[in-house]
Amino acid sequence: MNSFDPSAIAVRSAHFIGGEYVETQGPTLEVARPSDGEVYASLPIGDERLVAHAVENAWYAWRKSGWATMAPRERARILRRFADLVAADAATLAPLEALGSTRPVRDVFAWDVPYTAEGIRFYAEFADKIGGQVAATDHAHLGMMIAEPYGVIGAIAPWNFPLVMASWKAAPALAAGNAVVLKPSEMTPFSALRLAELAIEAGVPAGVFNVIQGDGRTTGDALVRHPLVGKVTFTGSTRTGAAIMAACAHSGTKPVTLELGGKSPQIVFADAPRIDDVAQRIATAVTINAGQVCVAGTRLIVERAIAEPLAERIEKILRGLSAGATWSPRATLPPIISNPQAQRIDAIVRSTLEAGAQARCGAARAETDAAGAGGAYYAPTILENVTSESAAVSEEIFGPVLTLQAFDSEEEALALAGHADYGLAAGVHTADLGRALRFVRTLETGTVWVNRYGRTSDFIIPTGGYKRSGIGKDLGKEAYEANLRFKSVLIDVNG
Ligand code: NAD
Repeated sequence: MNSFDPSAIAVRSAHFIGGEYVETQGPTLEVARPSDGEVYASLPIGDERLVAHAVENAWYAWRKSGWATMAPRERARILRRFADLVAADAATLAPLEALGSTRPVRDVFAWDVPYTAEGIRFYAEFADKIGGQVAATDHAHLGMMIAEPYGVIGAIAPWNFPLVMASWKAAPALAAGNAVVLKPSEMTPFSALRLAELAIEAGVPAGVFNVIQGDGRTTGDALVRHPLVGKVTFTGSTRTGAAIMAACAHSGTKPVTLELGGKSPQIVFADAPRIDDVAQRIATAVTINAGQVCVAGTRLIVERAIAEPLAERIEKILRGLSAGATWSPRATLPPIISNPQAQRIDAIVRSTLEAGAQARCGAARAETDAAGAGGAYYAPTILENVTSESAAVSEEIFGPVLTLQAFDSEEEALALAGHADYGLAAGVHTADLGRALRFVRTLETGTVWVNRYGRTSDFIIPTGGYKRSGIGKDLGKEAYEANLRFKSVLIDVNG
């Protein structure tokens, strides 16, 4: 699917609780299409009462529906059916996702939807694999750690990959036998509703997967603080993550998984194989989803000998991208999520230029075709003559902005690659395996990619940050286990 008519897509401005759409009165938020700025829906803001209703309903469904107590293979079977329904729904899900987000419909159809379905399948397979452990005790006793779900998982998602992020939260939680109350971003609220609807259609009991709508301050905060939420899982900015961690501490010392911001370096040595491939890799890692990716490789740290030829090649690729609506078949660079966000990108670029940096390309709002006239687009940008103190080097920009710093030695490259706050991901590009391994060992980041950048569909490899980039992991066995708590049991065999 390459394009669609945005005016033909209908959305349900509602919550999804207890297996049905729930409409509420009260304050609303306007929801705009990033591609052309047009307001297409008004979103209800779930207040404390609505959130309490959703969580209590989920808790009751969790206790009464048998979801946690059924044969785990049956739970797996239902989740596999859920995955099949998601995959089969691509023609509906893809335009729904692309309409209100920055994800081009072509990519949602080809990647986000099948990837979401496969991720659900991956977690379905865990449902009957992890039950706990038997402890090494004397034979007069039997000691066990029984794996048990928390009950209701409160999940809060960001706007950059709405469907994928929702599934990273919901799938392991459901597979482990929990109920989920998910709050998507108020900027991209609709595809999660369809996801929950498909889960119920597949056989997940009504009330076990719910979606509530609203902003962070009202709805998100009430969800985090509700006493029946057993655990919180959050993906978003470091600042919000810290607020959520504090709220969890003050509302029942709840465990929390936090997937937060990043400012990831791409370290390129002169011996890196195939400079054209490296240039393409660096360009893609900073422009995919217009740079609105937590692991975007935004800091190019390159050995001086190849700095110029590499920069030339990257510049050529960036200049060749054409901005346009998520439904435009010709566009190769999607919009920025909102005008305030595009202004923020521009402000960081301007202040870096004022401090002495030079722009090789970009550094301005991007020209677009007519379809995107009211949208927010930013031209892919390369900034040179920056230092580690430059705003564009130290702050997460969440836009297509690459900074370039040259180095002369391995030590210098390592020093430049480190970031005071963030430690999400890094790329190392070199033909020298020993050097690559030295970087793998030394970099303080949750992920290191060598001679590639970005994830594959190996769901088994977890993702998560060091330092202020987060706590805990999404994906992998780790995300499944994070949705379980372990009860210790000791039995006196002769008692
Ligand atoms: P954000 O922190 O502004 O919002 C994320 C979600 O939190 C939204 O649903 C929002 O409504 C909610 N929220 C806001 N304040 C809240 C509060 N006080 N209590 C509860 N919920 C609240 O982030 P964003 O702008 O939507 O997303 C971009 C950020 O997400 C970037 O920093 C990016 O790096 C990060 N991100 C990280 C990963 C990862 O895996 N590490 C993945 C994707 C995005």
